[in-house]
Parts: sequence; structure tokens; C-alpha cells
Amino acid sequence: MPPVVLEVRNLKTHFFTRWGVVKAVDGVSFSLSEGETLGLVGESGSGKSVTCLSILRLVPKPAGRIVGGQILFGGHDLLALSEKEMRKYRGRQISMILQDPLSTLNPVFTIGAQVREPLRIHHLVEPDSLKQRVLELLRLVRIPAAESRLENYPHQFSGGMRQRVVGAIAIACQPKLLIADEPTTSLDVTIQAQYLRLLKEIQRQSNLALLFVTHDFGIVAKMCDRVAVMYAGRIVEEAAVRELFTAPAHPYTQGLLQSLPKLDQRVARLPSIEGAPPLLSNLPPGCPFAPRCPKVMPLCREQYPPTTPLTASHQVACWVHAKEGHATSHAPG
Ligand code: SF4
Repeated sequence: MPPVVLEVRNLKTHFFTRWGVVKAVDGVSFSLSEGETLGLVGESGSGKSVTCLSILRLVPKPAGRIVGGQILFGGHDLLALSEKEMRKYRGRQISMILQDPLSTLNPVFTIGAQVREPLRIHHLVEPDSLKQRVLELLRLVRIPAAESRLENYPHQFSGGMRQRVVGAIAIACQPKLLIADEPTTSLDVTIQAQYLRLLKEIQRQSNLALLFVTHDFGIVAKMCDRVAVMYAGRIVEEAAVRELFTAPAHPYTQGLLQSLPKLDQRVARLPSIEGAPPLLSNLPPGCPFAPRCPKVMPLCREQYPPTTPLTASHQVACWVHAKEGHATSHAPG
């Protein structure tokens, strides 16, 4: 078994607003090993991005606060580090690629300067070798004629090239963990496929652990080894990718998969999950999916379901499965 790089235990990140406490992440646990890709999927507002920001301790302040749990990275609890110590991890050991390369890149600095910045901050390369390393990185992410593009600004690059530059910045310091938060959302489909191939290649070369956030199951199938489905700030199902696609156990996952168009089926209207995600500041008691669930039972409205292992690589938080006698642990209250 490859060594575990990241272990998130019972993470809780809440936002304290004038409308109440928004439990954006409420008891999330998962682990990620070297060279492995874990997909985090779920609707907007399910807590995927806040989970990622929590790992880097970049939750927007003052409203956002990590109120519980542990984030173990290489055996160290990131939540116990001082801000100064944490800065040594960001960009160096843990990097993140965001959705929109335009808002990631600074419009007033050249591409060369921006790729150079993390190398300079973390003193990883001798000053006279910096340019060489920047060129290597730009070539690695397939920026054509890299040398002549060093003095270009982000607006002189296409969307696909900008996202590749963001990738070069993210891997500049050879991190152990790369968090990619919907990195292909702003790319068109063909560029998307190229970019995903490139990410996979980089991951293979450096044995990166990759946490991949997406709402696209097609990308999950292509990119991930395991997948965790989030709903209302919690992981409701986690499985090896093949198991999740062939035997989804949670009614929410089943609904998501049923709503995907299929090439071999013509339907007038795709099935959808009725209703809307709950307000995280006002969660119903019991299972938060209950108001939308086709399999809801009276117990569902009273208690949050325990997490039940179905196989060695598949677990689900749903009373339908707990009732079959698999329940082992209860979700955090
Ligand atoms: S616990 Fe009940 S409401 Fe929640 S997903 Fe399972 S069946 Fe549906």
C-alpha cells in the first residue's frame, strides 16, 4: 500500500453569519495516498470547495472558522500549526489549482514572474538557475515557444494556456498533494481533455496525491481512483470509482447518476432530483437528504444515518443500508 499523504478526520468548518451558523463542512473524513486521485463530487454548496480551502487553512475570515477535526499531512496536524509554519506548506507541499485561471493569475505580472514566484519564496532553486527552471516548467505543461512567452502577460494567453500556466505554478515546488478545484470548468471540451491528460501525466511522473473536485461524473471516471460524494457538508458515500458507477448505494448518488445523459438512450426529459439542497444554516433533523429522497422512512427524519461499510472500498451513510445490519459508527453530531 502506498503511504497515506493526507488524512482528514471529522473536519468541521462553519461560517458564523448574521443569519445563523452555516455548517459548510460538518464532520468530513477521508484519506488520500501517494499517487492516488480522490474525486470529491456533489452539487454546488455541498462543501467541496470549503473542504479544500480548509486543508490549506484559507477559509475566508472572519466569518469562516474551522471548529473541529484534524487534518494530518505527513503525520502533522495542519490545524495545530502557526500561520508562519503553515506558509511553509502552502505552495511547497500542498498546491491548489482553482476554477478560473484569470482570477488566479495576476494581470499586472508577466507569466515568467508568476511561475518564478513560488520557487523564489521557498528558496528551492539558486537565483541564477531560476529562469531555466521556469522554462522547464512551462515546457512541461506544453507552452509552445516557452522562452519567447516569458515576458507575456496573462491576457496574451488563451484560456487553455492560462490554465496550463496555473498548473506550472502549482507543481513548481514539487508538492506532495495537489488540490484541483474544478480546474477545467472554464475550458472548452477539447482543451479540457488535453488538460486532464496533462494533469494525469504530471501526477504519474511525480507520484502526486491528487484531490480532484468536480461535479462532472465523466471527469470522475477518467481521472479518479476513488470518489467521495458530498451532500450538505458531509460525505454520504465513498467508493472505488468502478463500484460507485456500477452499484451506487446512496439515493442521492443514484439520483445524480440517473440524471446523466446516456448515449444509447433517447429520452424526452432526463430524470432529476426533485427539490433543492437544504439551507446549511437551517438543516432539518436527521438525514438532510430526507426532503428529496424517494426512499425516505420515518427514522430518516429523526436521526442522521450511521456510516455503513458495504465492501472493503465502499461505504455509505443511509438508513436503508444501516437497517440491513451493517452499521458501525455514527456520524458526528
Ligand atoms: S437515510 Fe433515509 S432519507 Fe437519507 S438517503 Fe437514506 S433513505 Fe434517504
